[in-house]
Amino acid sequence: MIITIANQKGGVGKTTTAINLAAAFALKGLATLLVDLDPQANATMSFVDNHELAASMYDVMVGQTPLEEILVPTHLEKLQLAPAKISLAKLEAALVGELDAHFRLKDRLSPVADRFEAVIVDTPPTLGLLTVNAMVAATHLLIPIQSSYFALEGTDDLLETVDKIKARANPDLQILGAVITLYDKRTVLARDIHEQIAKVFGDKLFRTVISRSVRLEESPAYRASIFEHAPESSGATEYYALCEEVMARV
Ligand code: ADP
Ligand code: MG
Repeated sequence: MIITIANQKGGVGKTTTAINLAAAFALKGLATLLVDLDPQANATMSFVDNHELAASMYDVMVGQTPLEEILVPTHLEKLQLAPAKISLAKLEAALVGELDAHFRLKDRLSPVADRFEAVIVDTPPTLGLLTVNAMVAATHLLIPIQSSYFALEGTDDLLETVDKIKARANPDLQILGAVITLYDKRTVLARDIHEQIAKVFGDKLFRTVISRSVRLEESPAYRASIFEHAPESSGATEYYALCEEVMARV
């Protein structure tokens, strides 16, 4: 399974979800690959110092570097990382006029995909070429939705893009589900928002809700997932529960 984490809004918990879901899969014993397709490289920097890396996803997407040559290990035995650098921001310009521009990730992943039981792809906060590549390559899409007043703003555009990709490039793409992030159960507003999101996504909304938590926010600074940084925290419990829900659905 190849799970793309996408939402064109920034700061909704995509990267936090990608990191911790990938870590949860690895801790469950699945050979897992985390692909960082965001030029901001936050997922990469949560595990390694990307300044020390020679090659990254840009080289894979634009040139002849095989994906397996850029893979780096993480502190988790079962988790490997395909790192990004800021150079990925140049990809769109580099691929102008290339007929296969939207299929690059799918093509580059296919020789290695068999080696992994779970592949998680983190994406930038746009519906541009990188996110489209991630959707074309994916078997499943997971949408983090921030618990906020404007939570559902932009959802139509996102779902329209998914429909286009299903129609033209990847008929097998399934919406795995939406997960509410940055939830604060103390507020009435948050409960209202939860209801609204549930109305839109129905049974696609995961039962697990990811609460707002300082531990989740700080774990990247320790180059750790929540499971090493704060294994007893709500964030660890919730991301583990999300992983189990995901596994039950695929
Ligand atoms: P995105 O990848 O969608 O831009 P991030 O995962 O980077 O979003 O999250 C945006 C910011 O919010 C980051 O600083 C991150 O550490 C923080 N954050 C994400 N999820 C939580 C959470 N559940 N509780 C507290 N902070 C969070
Ligand atoms: Mg991000």
